[in-house]
Amino acid sequence: MQRKLPLKAYKYRIYPTDGQMVFFAKTFGCCRFVWNKMLDKKMNAYKKKERIPGVTPAEYKKEFPFLKEVDSFALCNVQLQLEKAFKDHFRNRKQFKLPKFKKKRDKQSYTTNNRQNSIRVDFEKGLLYLPKIREGLKIELHRRFEGKIKSVTVSRANDGKYYASILVETQNPRNKVVEPKSKACGIDLGLGHFATVTNDFGSYKFEHPKYLLKGEERLRRLQKSHSRKQKDSKNSEKARLRLARQHTYISNARNDFLHKLSKAIIDENQVVVVEDINVKGLLKSRLAKSISDSGWSKFLTYLRYKAEWYGRTFIQVDRFFPSSKLCHRCGYKNEDLALHDRTWCCPACGETHDRDVNASKNLYFVGIGRPEVTPVEQALVDDRSPKGLPKKLSCDETGSSTTKS
Ligand SMILES: [Zn+2]
Repeated sequence: MQRKLPLKAYKYRIYPTDGQMVFFAKTFGCCRFVWNKMLDKKMNAYKKKERIPGVTPAEYKKEFPFLKEVDSFALCNVQLQLEKAFKDHFRNRKQFKLPKFKKKRDKQSYTTNNRQNSIRVDFEKGLLYLPKIREGLKIELHRRFEGKIKSVTVSRANDGKYYASILVETQNPRNKVVEPKSKACGIDLGLGHFATVTNDFGSYKFEHPKYLLKGEERLRRLQKSHSRKQKDSKNSEKARLRLARQHTYISNARNDFLHKLSKAIIDENQVVVVEDINVKGLLKSRLAKSISDSGWSKFLTYLRYKAEWYGRTFIQVDRFFPSSKLCHRCGYKNEDLALHDRTWCCPACGETHDRDVNASKNLYFVGIGRPEVTPVEQALVDDRSPKGLPKKLSCDETGSSTTKS
């Protein structure tokens, strides 16, 4: 069987003419209409605890002939997206809520597929050709790509700008591959810092970038200001636009940061080990949510696919691996460690741990394949210091003897 080529998405700003905007608005509207119709049918069955029926957009075309005017691939994709949403929900109810009805105010988009060259890009003229847009659409092609176009998603952001995200089957999605300098690294995702990383050269803390924190602050201010304005007034519309622009700015800035950091980590290390973030329980805290929001899971997604592109190994440890509670030196497990304990002292070997550094070191050891640390009992037998905790020097010995490194 032929190996599947990796897919890569390229997003560009597009500048539709007035006529094309009307066409897009129609298509967005039809997609929303069909989504809501199909969802309604499925939800009725769901509420009655009946089997959820399969629905296709085609069955509405007779009753609502305007559906025939738009790109039929767009409607097909709505069906696929809706089916996926239900599937995801039944697979993992906690993470995936039931799909919702779409409103006109939501972000609008539709996806169309390339069949027999129905989608083309002219890099010289700066034009994108889509089904039903034969005259071409003005597109800002700030970067080139090579490969076969699979599909295009056209979207209109809240601030009124239009974008096309082009999904391309590409032979070689990567930039230059560099030799890793470090065998492995362990990454602990944190609250105070974005991430703590340990590799062959030591431990590093990566802060949330200042511009992001400042941007979030401004976002909150704009949110407040928007909610204070009288509904449907001119000022409210202006505030909404400012808010939408800030949202875009933040999400672009965050993605940029996540891409650069994940790329740097993948470049430097052969094996990348991360924890299962569901365990963190930190997302429950309000503060964490506002700061890192989608940040963590996006970061892990970026690491995972970049690892694949660049031939690195990506390991996500089991949720039962106690990366924070384990003393990285002697293997003692601190069952009493609370979420707010930023540092702790190992009663077995006397080492003082920074919570995040210790966790990232444990993850690093998973990466370099250190043999299982010997259980605690052995380390607890302390025949060197009469006054309980051993001195720092002797604890080095404990570390190396029990870990057999
Ligand atoms: Zn210890």
